[in-house]
Amino acid sequence: MKQRIALLGSTGSIGEQTLDVVSQHPELFEITTLTANRRWEQLVAQARRFSPDSVVIADKTYYAQVSEALADTDVKVYAGIDAVAQVAAASNVDTVVNALVGYAGLAPSVASLRAGKKLALANKESLVVAGDIVMGLVGTEGSALVPIDSEHSAIFQCLVGEPSPVRRVVVTASGGSFRDTPISELHNVTVEQALRHPNWNMGAKITIDSSTLVNKAFEVIEARWLFGLKPEQIDVLIHPQSIIHSMVEFADGAIKAQLGTPDMRVPIQYALSFPHRLPLETPPFDFLSHPELTFRAVDRQKYPALDLAYHCLYAGGTSGCIFNAANEIAVAAFISKQIGYTDIVRTIENAFSKVALIAKPTLEDYAATNDQVRRLSEEYVQNL
Ligand code: MG
Repeated sequence: MKQRIALLGSTGSIGEQTLDVVSQHPELFEITTLTANRRWEQLVAQARRFSPDSVVIADKTYYAQVSEALADTDVKVYAGIDAVAQVAAASNVDTVVNALVGYAGLAPSVASLRAGKKLALANKESLVVAGDIVMGLVGTEGSALVPIDSEHSAIFQCLVGEPSPVRRVVVTASGGSFRDTPISELHNVTVEQALRHPNWNMGAKITIDSSTLVNKAFEVIEARWLFGLKPEQIDVLIHPQSIIHSMVEFADGAIKAQLGTPDMRVPIQYALSFPHRLPLETPPFDFLSHPELTFRAVDRQKYPALDLAYHCLYAGGTSGCIFNAANEIAVAAFISKQIGYTDIVRTIENAFSKVALIAKPTLEDYAATNDQVRRLSEEYVQNL
């Protein structure tokens, strides 16, 4: 029996790389559903190549174009955000690859787990916003969650076969586009500079998030939920080479690391094939061309976002939701050149100072907080 996959966010970087993995193992995987936000032509091309049962275009304004372009096929076409969560829970799906960006990924994550699917999760915001609810649903109707985020896949791989509790995890960080830029120059940096990531080829939002270390801050929160860790058990180290994808230290002091050339297809494929490993067309790792693996502490002055993650771990409740919503607005405003680079963290700090925390939120509370923070942050960035 082939594993039937719904790929949410198929036209993004993770989406395209997932399709690459699937096409290397046509005897094991089949695509039943593809969803895209706005890139309808790319979605149509993917649908022609992978013949899914259905596609969803989240932005309804492109429904007519997609329908027309696939009129000569059997592919069912749906439109709208709600349809994304609906196809994730559909009976023709075993595994949901959630490669959506931002808060929009939460509802489909919840729907997949409630419907008993395996959730291969690249949308870290699901856990940043509502990790308590998402993790509480794992196991429902036999559902499971396997991380795709490279650091968490690394930790997950290190933990396979280890029943004992860990001492700590070390999440590695490349340092992003400005790791060698002095703090005094950060207020002048441009969008174009921020989009040049040294090691990983990723989408625009996550590349900006990597440069501010908001991405790493989110990954600290993600690790807390995925692996049930206390704040003091999660360390972050700058590792400029991005060869060690993360590490786990056990009670006896033994450390396991997962290493390799940065290639998101490895964690994507592992999430699909777990607990097995499948061949992937990657060259053998050449240690001699990477003779130095170096580490340094994160400069907390330069990267204030990391402290915000630990604030969220202690504060709990809706704090991660506030963090994420303010960041989404700030990054969009920075990409559209409305605000400066250092205004991103300023916008997040403003939201924390203005929005009341809800200690035991429901999904409705998360939605209300998300709306509230977005409105407040939109206003804030307009006045910067
Ligand atoms: Mg990552």
